[in-house]
Amino acid sequence: MAEPSGSRPYHADMLKLNFDNRFINELPGDPEQGPHRRQVHGACWSRVPPTPVAKPHLLAHSPEVAALLGLAEADIDTPAFAEVFGGNRLIAGMDPYAACYGGHQFGNWAGQLGDGRAINLGETVNSAGQRWELQLKGAGPTPYARRADGRAVLRSSIREFLCSEAMHHLGVPTTRALSLVGTGEEVVRDMFYDGNPRYEPGAVVCRVAPGFIRFGNFEILASRGDTELLKRLVDFTIARDFSELEGDTEEKRARWFAEVCGRTARMIAHWMRVGFVHGVMNTDNMSILGLTIDYGPYGWIDNYDPDWTPNTTDAEGRRYRFGHQAQIAHWNLSRLAEALRPAFRTAEPLQNGMEGFVDAYLVESRAMTAAKFGLSRLDEDTLELMAEAFTLLHKAEVDMTLFFRELAQIDADAPSLAPLHEAFYSETLRLRHRADFEAWLGRYARHLRLEAMPAAERRARMNAVNPRFVLRNYLAQEAIDLAEQGDASRVHELLDVMRRPYDEQPERARFAAKRPDWARQKAGCSMLSCSS
Ligand code: AMP
Ligand code: MG
Repeated sequence: MAEPSGSRPYHADMLKLNFDNRFINELPGDPEQGPHRRQVHGACWSRVPPTPVAKPHLLAHSPEVAALLGLAEADIDTPAFAEVFGGNRLIAGMDPYAACYGGHQFGNWAGQLGDGRAINLGETVNSAGQRWELQLKGAGPTPYARRADGRAVLRSSIREFLCSEAMHHLGVPTTRALSLVGTGEEVVRDMFYDGNPRYEPGAVVCRVAPGFIRFGNFEILASRGDTELLKRLVDFTIARDFSELEGDTEEKRARWFAEVCGRTARMIAHWMRVGFVHGVMNTDNMSILGLTIDYGPYGWIDNYDPDWTPNTTDAEGRRYRFGHQAQIAHWNLSRLAEALRPAFRTAEPLQNGMEGFVDAYLVESRAMTAAKFGLSRLDEDTLELMAEAFTLLHKAEVDMTLFFRELAQIDADAPSLAPLHEAFYSETLRLRHRADFEAWLGRYARHLRLEAMPAAERRARMNAVNPRFVLRNYLAQEAIDLAEQGDASRVHELLDVMRRPYDEQPERARFAAKRPDWARQKAGCSMLSCSS
């Protein structure tokens, strides 16, 4: 454990974090230490410290996450904070490790992957008894780094930091982010894998979640035939992260898998509600807690397009396109079910769980979609009405976020398209589809009248599920461009806007604007890669 260095004393309050590192205390670790690359068998993790960086400096932090951990704002404003969360110093109770996991990447089994650049510092327990694990991303190489450097660039770290918090405030299950620390070091990346590497500033994000176990943690053990450890990991996960489940071992395992399926369904339904495209739904990027994890080449839907993916690495097959995410989640759960099979006497609980996913997704996504339209009836008529709207949005290239936000303005007694004008990207397409939209609006207004809900109440309800603000790709890119020139103020401003995404915030109207033309084909705005 690192001792406080003589020159810079610890801020006493920082020592108040209370650690209880169950993952490494209850599951077997790799007997070898340090970062040299290796295959790790018979273990769930490897002990490895963060590699110190040249000049750790705090660029941004989330006050809500600090409060969750019980950190006071005064703790954050100290050099010690940047040192700890940049990976230069440990505080008492931290015991850093990297987890061993495998995964299916783009549909193929990829073998051992593991935390290649993420290092877990420890599991804290706050005064309310909640467990929050701290994980640095970009903290240096681990045994799982393969040929890579263990680092992360500022642009992708800003994207992860902002999006984790934006998703949380939108009500989407997600890992959180405590801090964004600049390293004062440069990192070489070939952003589009096209032979044009460049030096970029490096950064470290501290991610925070009740736990970071992924589907791939189970898959790697199953792939190696390590059934004993697989069962141990299953029962550990249930005991630590699903302690509310009841029954004997077999019953608990069955209920647990059903719960994982249900949570995954809810998470995807939320992604579809807010227009989020994950971009790399490999099984190593699927949290067993049903949290959105690993913000890489993700993107937000501007003009509604179920075929869109922000990830240029996936441009050809578009496996991880917006409208395919539920099917992919189902496919990923099937891989998890296969891996878990040795932990179950029969396949039935796993089959039931998979069927539960399909049912839960249907129920959740229909309910959320109906709420977006301000409709409470789910019958053949309303389902068709909603499906038609999506077809029109697609054909006419209408901004998804603006459309739904403005839809609340429709007067059921005198419907007009005027409030929706702003949501169209192309005047030509708007005029071409105007008659269809008007016909649709007439039917929609009839349904609203059937609902017989006071307009003000309907608006309030719709505005509570249709955000005014989402972290549009171009907004994040503007913040990145400024931060790369040394000005992090836009990161702070965006973080602040995204804390209240359902509030009108008229003084922040510019952050609700649809994608400007310059961003349509710009790197970072519509095109992203896995290089991060
Ligand atoms: P991702 O596509 O970001 O989910 O990463 C897939 C795998 O590659 C994971 O095992 C990561 O830990 C690893 N990885 C990605 N980037 C790096 C890096 N710069 N250094 C070490 N490992 C990395
Ligand atoms: Mg990953």
